Amino acid sequence: MTNPFDLSGKIAVVTGANTGIGQGIALALAAAGADIAAVGRSAATETVEKVRALGRKAEIVSADLSTIEPVQRVVDETVEKLGGLDILVNNAGIIRRADSVDFTEEDWDAVMDTNLKSVFFLCQAAAKHMIKQFENGGGGGKIINIASMLTFQGGIRVPSYTASKSGIGGLTKLLANEWASKGICVNAIAPGYIATNNTDALQKDENRNRQIMERIPAGRWGDPADLGGAAVFLASSASNYVQGHILAVDGGWLAR
Ligand code: NAP
Repeated sequence: MTNPFDLSGKIAVVTGANTGIGQGIALALAAAGADIAAVGRSAATETVEKVRALGRKAEIVSADLSTIEPVQRVVDETVEKLGGLDILVNNAGIIRRADSVDFTEEDWDAVMDTNLKSVFFLCQAAAKHMIKQFENGGGGGKIINIASMLTFQGGIRVPSYTASKSGIGGLTKLLANEWASKGICVNAIAPGYIATNNTDALQKDENRNRQIMERIPAGRWGDPADLGGAAVFLASSASNYVQGHILAVDGGWLAR
């Protein structure tokens, strides 16, 4: 029997791959056999070196995803440099914090544009390639969006982030409905509290850090490597009948 989690011969685009969760997922996919297009506005040099050390191919694709201008180029450059596109991980994201009464239009638009609008249009560009691949008798594709605890909960002082991540939940289900019959699985991973740049302010805030830790049954912040298993599962044939699912990897946070 072949290993259903094996990603040998697959090509994965990971956005925001230079650091944090994106780097953790890129390395896990590479360890399972995939080649990696490391997409982002900062060069993912370290990630590319680590992927190559695992014996896989890796290429940097420079793209600022605060607008949808680069989305088609991300797909084209990946196909050109690595020879295909089988897996898309929409990980790049930002957060802005302020009281809702003071929240600015700039903070609303910046987060929604990066976390939701660019995600949708990158899904669209990748799906066109994956559907063609499927119709030509090849494998279709796997799309993994990065959601959040705020896909399920309200949060506080992060209105555009909560709106964007709740939107990711709905979008993941909608795209699964439209594309499941076209050879594409669309799912999401909802990370709990993971120690990265994104949560640096929370980790440093003694009070918030204590409150967060008290609620995590696992008793610790997550590490980007903790997302690897879920990403490999959703990227591999092991999940071929899983559609529109939002898989929480949260040390038990939502179970409380
Ligand atoms: P991070 O360390 O801040 O990484 C965010 C990544 O997104 C970086 O690679 C960043 O690139 C990239 N990015 C941001 N804006 C971009 C843009 N305009 N164009 C291209 N790339 C851009 O945070 P993280 O925690 O790993 O976050 C990764 C994802 O997980 C985000 O979608 C986040 O919302 C989500 N998430 C995180 C947590 C958590 O606890 N950490 C929990 C739930 C969900 P630069 O380095 O160039 O800024």
